[in-house]
Amino acid sequence: MRLYHTLGIEKSLFRGNTWLGNDLDGKNNTLLHTFCCAGFCRWLQWRPMTITSPVGPGPFRAVLAAALVFLLFSCSSETLRPRVDEAYLLGTVVRITVYTDEAEALLEPVFARVADIEARMSTSERDYDRTELLDVNRAPAGTATPVSVDTFEVLKEALRYSELSDGAFEVTIWPLVRLWDIGSGHESVPSEGDIARAVSLVDYRKLSLNDDGSVTLPEEGMGVDVGAIAKGYAADEGARILREGGVKHAILDFGGNILVIGSKPDGTPWRVGVQRPDARRNEYIGIVYTSDRTVVTSGPYERFFVEDGVRYHHILDPATGYPSRNGLEQVTVVGDRSIDADALSTTGYVMGLPAGFTLIEELDGVEAVFVTEDHRVYVTSGLKGPDGRSRFELVDEEFRLMGPPEG
Ligand code: ADP
Ligand code: MG
Repeated sequence: MRLYHTLGIEKSLFRGNTWLGNDLDGKNNTLLHTFCCAGFCRWLQWRPMTITSPVGPGPFRAVLAAALVFLLFSCSSETLRPRVDEAYLLGTVVRITVYTDEAEALLEPVFARVADIEARMSTSERDYDRTELLDVNRAPAGTATPVSVDTFEVLKEALRYSELSDGAFEVTIWPLVRLWDIGSGHESVPSEGDIARAVSLVDYRKLSLNDDGSVTLPEEGMGVDVGAIAKGYAADEGARILREGGVKHAILDFGGNILVIGSKPDGTPWRVGVQRPDARRNEYIGIVYTSDRTVVTSGPYERFFVEDGVRYHHILDPATGYPSRNGLEQVTVVGDRSIDADALSTTGYVMGLPAGFTLIEELDGVEAVFVTEDHRVYVTSGLKGPDGRSRFELVDEEFRLMGPPEG
């Protein structure tokens, strides 16, 4: 009866699953494990009585007891059931799956923390009258605006990636983001003059992050935007809270930003799907096998509009002021910190091949999968070998695995 109940819950949790990058084979394996372990646990409940009484005291009994403790322990970890909760935050569905019996107590502070990050760092004037970053962007030119430690930290990282990429990643992209307003539902292509004016206001070298924790922009109309990095920071924060609460296995899915804690409960790596670029959800071009890491994808299909048959998406090239267009369809970055992977997937997408690929190949602890519009797939060296901490497997025959990009 209890076993059936368990299976019922698991089925309902996985039904209608639309999230990118979940544990792809979790359904069948978890069901199988649950079945086997629940049966075995039940069997074990009887064994102690039948074994211990005839054996008597002594080392043999101690060994048996230790073996039983081990088996019961491994059994209980195997039978942990996934608990899923989700909320619409940071412009996406945030879905968290944890394998623990105290899910409610643990998930609430995680969602509260993500909501807090959004309320500080959003630059959406539709959603918020005020946030710390809207205060920064609206402050008179040259005045210092104090921000929280969190916001300062995210700006610092965003500025670091702006410098690292020579402005392909642009922390001061706000004038362009606001002009295009992609995702608003009433978009149109701005005039060339407006785009040129906005481009002239975008320059990370003019942003001052002051020693006292305040932020200064020197020109009227300039502004910061952390849309390309805040989800990563929020995922890291969520994972920190869950780990501190003792969670050993979890998936945090921030709409294309995936962070996995530990391995799957059965000890094997998570299988994170890399979505097909053509917006067909739940179809994967490949799988990243990994544990305790984050897998973040940037592509043009998350938010876009179509005008005169042309698709305009939300990742902008600061040099031109138009949506980035360089033959890339998407970039997936695998790393330890989601803030880095989030920043680098956007960076790689804007820099394109081969520059973005080379940058990520040169950085320690991050790997990437670049997918072009003509279905070529470039994978950095750390994702290729079976010995690496993460491995990418191409599963879609319409895509072709390539050697290092030329150029
Ligand atoms: P998503 O938000 O879909 O995960 P990204 O992480 O690539 O995608 O972030 C895109 C967001 O980042 C845009 O909505 C915008 O707020 C901001 N952005 C757009 N272009 C750039 C850029 N060149 N550098 C930094 N941020 C950008
Ligand atoms: Mg990003």
